[in-house]
Amino acid sequence: MTESAVLTPVPRSDALALEAEAVSAWFGDHKVLDRVSLTMPAQQVTALIGPSGCGKSTFLRILNRMHELVPSASLAGEVRLAGDDIYHPGVRVTDARRKIGMVFQKPNPFPAMSIYDNVLAGLKLTGTRAPRGVRDGLVEECLTRAGLWKEVRDRLRQPGGALSGGQQQRLCIARSLAVRPKVLLMDEPCSALDPTSTRRIEETITELAEAVTIVIVTHNMQQAARVSQRCAFFLAEQGTPGHIVEAGDTGQMFGAPVDPRTEDYVNGRF
Ligand code: ADP
Ligand code: MG
Repeated sequence: MTESAVLTPVPRSDALALEAEAVSAWFGDHKVLDRVSLTMPAQQVTALIGPSGCGKSTFLRILNRMHELVPSASLAGEVRLAGDDIYHPGVRVTDARRKIGMVFQKPNPFPAMSIYDNVLAGLKLTGTRAPRGVRDGLVEECLTRAGLWKEVRDRLRQPGGALSGGQQQRLCIARSLAVRPKVLLMDEPCSALDPTSTRRIEETITELAEAVTIVIVTHNMQQAARVSQRCAFFLAEQGTPGHIVEAGDTGQMFGAPVDPRTEDYVNGRF
């Protein structure tokens, strides 16, 4: 029998720090990450940057235990949320994923499901209960935090698929907020969106970071500079597994990078 969690009132900040230590990853015999260590501080936005194929998405999926869904996948190292190992045998996968939510590149609301039910679907996916009396309030809270409430308050029964791309992505953010995660992982959340929708999501990310720790993968250097306080540059050179070349404060990474490869990458010379 699976126990379900019950929602508690929202504290001012739910954010918790996430730490990866010496994380390596494989698909079968293919090693794709090599001893990646990174601290992602609470209430901050950490941006993961680097060329395609260097393991950013894999790293993100390790951070909320989605990597293990791939049958050939394995890993080494540790991931700690506020000091607690999320891979400890006593930790249930659903608990880890409830605390550490994920938003993907392509907005993926349930298209035929109503906007209202899409938000609540976030609870069902992780086995969390929201008593009937709090559901309306929770839907409003999550849609407000995702910057979508005013646009959809009069059409909550319409299907999620009827929204624009940017609105669908904000609906997905609302869905991931429904369980009140401590950390939100975002894998290129704006790369399928137009510039206006992108800026709106960036504003939402900045507001959310007051209460949730955010880790975002982005190919857009201006976006990394705008939204993040911390930055990590991943690279997989000549078939070697992905690793972090340099990590630090975003201002320093863009203004005075230590490694010449970082300087080339952030200046678009890659
Ligand atoms: P990025 O997000 O930086 O583009 P990925 O994490 O998607 O990089 O990929 C890193 C490496 O892992 C690539 O070589 C990719 O081909 C490989 N990879 C990713 N997902 C899988 C998978 N499900 N099965 C096998 N190899 C994979
Ligand atoms: Mg990726």
